[in-house]
Amino acid sequence: MREIFIEFRDVSFRYGEEQAWVLKNVSFNIYKDEWVAIIGHNGSGKSTIAKLMNGLLFPQKGEIRINGVPVTEESVWDIRKQVGMVFQNPDNQFVGTTVQDDVAFGMENRGVPREEMIKRIDEVLNAVKMQDYRLTEPHRLSGGQKQRVAIASVLAIKPEVLILDEATAMLDPKGRKEIMRTVSDIQDQNEISLITITHDLQEVTQAERVIVMNDGEVWDEATPREVFAKKDALRKIGLDVPFIAILADELKKNDLMITSEPLN
Ligand code: ADP
Repeated sequence: MREIFIEFRDVSFRYGEEQAWVLKNVSFNIYKDEWVAIIGHNGSGKSTIAKLMNGLLFPQKGEIRINGVPVTEESVWDIRKQVGMVFQNPDNQFVGTTVQDDVAFGMENRGVPREEMIKRIDEVLNAVKMQDYRLTEPHRLSGGQKQRVAIASVLAIKPEVLILDEATAMLDPKGRKEIMRTVSDIQDQNEISLITITHDLQEVTQAERVIVMNDGEVWDEATPREVFAKKDALRKIGLDVPFIAILADELKKNDLMITSEPLN
């Protein structure tokens, strides 16, 4: 049995007493070291889930546990050490004047000794293939490179889960590809849970499991292949199945048709 890392139990959330519920009885588990994609149309509640995962928000109903510990005002500081987040806008995430200063910043705040810091800067910049840019000023980097540095800065703190909340949304196709490749390498090489949050079905293909959100509820929880098979229903909730998945489906149907013909 896989060990549960994050547990949402009947979680409901609203931004104010007068406001509508934006999450309604949401329950799911994220297991240790797995890659889960959370997908849903804009406004379906994905970012709210991300903020609940590191105690930026607290639910009015239900419970969230991380490593078995309920997320509360008291436990939140410990929990934030385990949860690393990368957001949409790469420009809002830089504090250092060079790439390596930036990666060092979070570690300095946590009192990581200097020797260890130097070692980790090397490790994480290698992991995101940015080792040649240590002394570059962040504003000179492309969008994809900036997000890779943002990922490195989070990895340097050694979180148990890395959450990317629409981290590719502002990037061009090349930058998007870079990030998805980086994320996939990290997942292969580290013992870390990975949660990628997106409204683009194209980005869920490599995840082990997909949680599909619709209007604040869990609509489906399945493998990418199982989710893609529901392409008509997905379209109704505002999600377009990528062309490549439709093509694969058509080819499969075609193959079946050919092999069912007598071979004479
Ligand atoms: P997603 O990430 O899927 O786009 P969000 O979690 O950002 O969805 O938003 C879910 C719902 O909550 C939306 O209807 C959104 O308008 C609302 N919402 C998000 N943030 C706030 C806020 N700070 N105050 C009030 N409503 C909010």
